[in-house]
Amino acid sequence: MGIGFFGAVPLAPLVSPAMDITLLGTGSPLPSPDRAGAATLLRAGGATLLFDCGRGVVLRLTAAGVFPIGLSAVMLTHLHSDHIVDLGDMVTTHWVMSPGPTPLKVYGPPGTQEVVDGMTAMFALDRQYRLDHHADLTQAPIVEVIEVEPGDQFEIADVTVSVHRTDHRPVQPTVGYRVTHDGKVGAIAGDTVPCDELDEMCREADLYVQTVLRADLIGAIPNPRLQDILNYHSSVEQAAQTATRAGVKTLVLTHYIPALIPGDEETWRALAAAHFSGPIVLGDDLTTASA
Ligand SMILES: [Zn+2]
Ligand SMILES: [Zn+2]
Repeated sequence: MGIGFFGAVPLAPLVSPAMDITLLGTGSPLPSPDRAGAATLLRAGGATLLFDCGRGVVLRLTAAGVFPIGLSAVMLTHLHSDHIVDLGDMVTTHWVMSPGPTPLKVYGPPGTQEVVDGMTAMFALDRQYRLDHHADLTQAPIVEVIEVEPGDQFEIADVTVSVHRTDHRPVQPTVGYRVTHDGKVGAIAGDTVPCDELDEMCREADLYVQTVLRADLIGAIPNPRLQDILNYHSSVEQAAQTATRAGVKTLVLTHYIPALIPGDEETWRALAAAHFSGPIVLGDDLTTASA
């Protein structure tokens, strides 16, 4: 397949808010036919950033008008399987669609290199098949891993990213990212309970994306494995309380545990609205919010 083929596919839509967020995957580890796994796209200025690589991420990314080769970077919040399971698809697809040697940057907490190394080993045979078959494919995938620590700050294209500690213990380390561009701020938290560092990351953010669970629903299920997850995720109400404490403008909820049943959006929204008076965005995969 020639590279021109890929050029024929639609590019990202020409939208012009300073910052644009798309919930690529609103699901959780519990399978849902309609919800991909954890993944959020943030576009601002010249940066196209993907946060986490859950189940089905490449499909949803394409539906949002972006190919893996269009990403500036992948940013991982933590290394739970539901946030990284399709990183291999992302890396492979990025590689086979690249016209020449093109690094894919993957930012993540310590341990990210180990995950990428394992994933690279898993695809060793595939890599060799493709290198042997395509004369114009001469280089293995290049994954540039940047392991980050809370307090780090760096630029990607014309956006500034800072890294913040979150609290998803016993899973450690876990981080969230605060992205600033043109006076607008997006705060992308992964799985976490409320904590001071999270409040700081979200301070006055225009958009705050939080993975959530329904404590009322999960708490009512007498299954010890489900009960275990209650104490390391923000409930819908806690996400709203964080948003209020931090002075957030718009709260964006994702990673619904259990899966949000279509038609039940207003129940979820009401639980958040009892604690947060600003706009609350939630819904199906590909729901968007902008600032
Ligand atoms: Zn997690
Ligand atoms: Zn998760």
